[in-house]
Amino acid sequence: EPTKPSNFLRHVIEADLSQGRYAGRRWGGGPGDAAHHAAGIADPARVRLRFPPEPNGYLHIGHAKSIWLNFSLAAEYGGVCHLRFDDTNPEKEDQEYVDSIRDTVRWLGYDTLLADDPAAPAQAREHEYFASDYFDLMYRAAEALVEAGHAYVDEQTPEQMRANRGDFTTPGTDSPFRGRSPADNLARLREMRDGKHADGSMVLRAKIDMASPNINLRDPAIYRIRRATHHNTGDRWCIYPMYTFAHPIEDALEQITHSICTLEFEDQRPFYDWLLERLTEAGLLSAPQPHQYEFARLNVTYMVTSKRKLRQLVEEQHVSGWDDPRMPTLAGLRRRGYTPAALRLFCERSGVTKVGGWTDYSALEAALRETLEPVAARAMAVLEPVPLVLSNWDEVMGEGFLDDCQAPVHPHHPEQGQRQFRFGRELWIEKSDYEDTPPKGYNRLYPGNKVRLKYGHVIECTGAERDAEGKLTAVLARLLPDTKSGTPGADSVKVKGVITWVSASDAVPAEFNLYDRLFTQPHPDAGDGDFLSNLNPASLSRTQGFVEPGTAERAAQGPVQFERHGYFVIDSAATALVFNRAAGLRDNWGK
Ligand code: ATP
Ligand code: MG
Ligand code: MG
Repeated sequence: EPTKPSNFLRHVIEADLSQGRYAGRRWGGGPGDAAHHAAGIADPARVRLRFPPEPNGYLHIGHAKSIWLNFSLAAEYGGVCHLRFDDTNPEKEDQEYVDSIRDTVRWLGYDTLLADDPAAPAQAREHEYFASDYFDLMYRAAEALVEAGHAYVDEQTPEQMRANRGDFTTPGTDSPFRGRSPADNLARLREMRDGKHADGSMVLRAKIDMASPNINLRDPAIYRIRRATHHNTGDRWCIYPMYTFAHPIEDALEQITHSICTLEFEDQRPFYDWLLERLTEAGLLSAPQPHQYEFARLNVTYMVTSKRKLRQLVEEQHVSGWDDPRMPTLAGLRRRGYTPAALRLFCERSGVTKVGGWTDYSALEAALRETLEPVAARAMAVLEPVPLVLSNWDEVMGEGFLDDCQAPVHPHHPEQGQRQFRFGRELWIEKSDYEDTPPKGYNRLYPGNKVRLKYGHVIECTGAERDAEGKLTAVLARLLPDTKSGTPGADSVKVKGVITWVSASDAVPAEFNLYDRLFTQPHPDAGDGDFLSNLNPASLSRTQGFVEPGTAERAAQGPVQFERHGYFVIDSAATALVFNRAAGLRDNWGK
């Protein structure tokens, strides 16, 4: 086993474990304990990580990085990783997204980390949590802050609040409502909760420091009024916690040890710590508190990963849906033919650092090829077919005769057996395998040239037929007897070109979706231009062709390699036999 490349998070975790940082962790007897028990957490000494998606869209390649990072670190250090739906923003969230996220995380291979307490409810044993299950405790936390003088209800308009926040060069200005007594604030907070005030008329703010150089500490809003039906709690609440308030509490309740997020949240870390310290002082949470660590988000060239932009692509029908195989969503990559093993390898290789950058799209394809090459069943397919007629067939082989051919399912795995197919007078070959006048270096069919039909005989091209418009309708050739692959005479005639084919007698019709990058620019959403202007108009081409018999059955087990063409997967959304090209055989990117 080669040693894994290390990263700063591994160092942090190893240092914490070696210092026994979580060994003395005990439940504090506070109200949070009920949530801990509901979560099935019996042994708090372990490393405990979480992947916390907001169920407001489909997961994308960037989320795969976060999933891989959190789940694989947990597994490596004998800990657990929670799948937590960060569902505190009811307008944008939906059950459809919850289902798809859960399905995708499991598909990636992360469904085996069970809770340590076998008596925990089944749902908790899978370590699946909803932030909205903690709304009661979050509200109590808000009241506790108010009672301790750490929060106040602000009735300024949103415009006033924005203006009074100041900016990087100017300190903020205190709200006229900042000096209210805790009792007054508590009464108003309860009115907010009880639906006595209109949406947007007031917010609860943490009382920290309006002059802080960190703008996130200038009395951030922590609760707002919003009459919206929540997918989990329905109409029970008309006030909802803000993400920056909810997230640290979620982490603390679930006894997360290392809360890993992307660099944009670095400036939020002081508030994260401030809040957990106040709530621990108030006896609502127990120490040790979780700590936040930031790493650089994954950016992949030729892809966009902002959910807003992905939604725009779907809603404006630039793609066929969230799972369009050109989308950087995990549903799209899955339908494209990407496997969990390929995505995990890609994530591992893309590194975990504190410095942002771009990972080349070709690294994603390389990971796919490397993981599929050793396992994918081989098959022949003709994507842009033209008939090849062997004019001397009847004379050499006998009229109507069909020869049997075979080829290994996988060249390095003889135990996987042989593919069987027929060879006859009429075959399908690729249109591009014939030229009237060959360009320099062209070794395939042109009048007078000999090539091998892979797994079959050597043939010599004698010409071609065209229709009135000049369209190629058939390629003509003669078969050279006694040259069949695997027979003693096979090497008697030397040829430079080998072409793939499917016999007309047993060819199975199929459609092929050939994908190119969705955007023409490596950084599609850079600059102030409209990212849609970088859409590649030729990102999808469809062809009708043929595959050898038995291919559909083999492809039902996973992606296949069409010889000379690349890796393909059956399109899960199609009713007829349709193959999506996941990647070519080699890197043509940038050509
Ligand atoms: P978007 O900004 O596109 O809406 P998000 O970050 O808000 O995405 P969440 O559902 O909140 O999406 O993300 C869940 C987790 O995935 C977070 O911890 C987030 O940091 C992480 N994540 C999201 N995008 C990336 C990325 N490109 N690289 C690494 N991690 C990411
Ligand atoms: Mg988010
Ligand atoms: Mg976001």
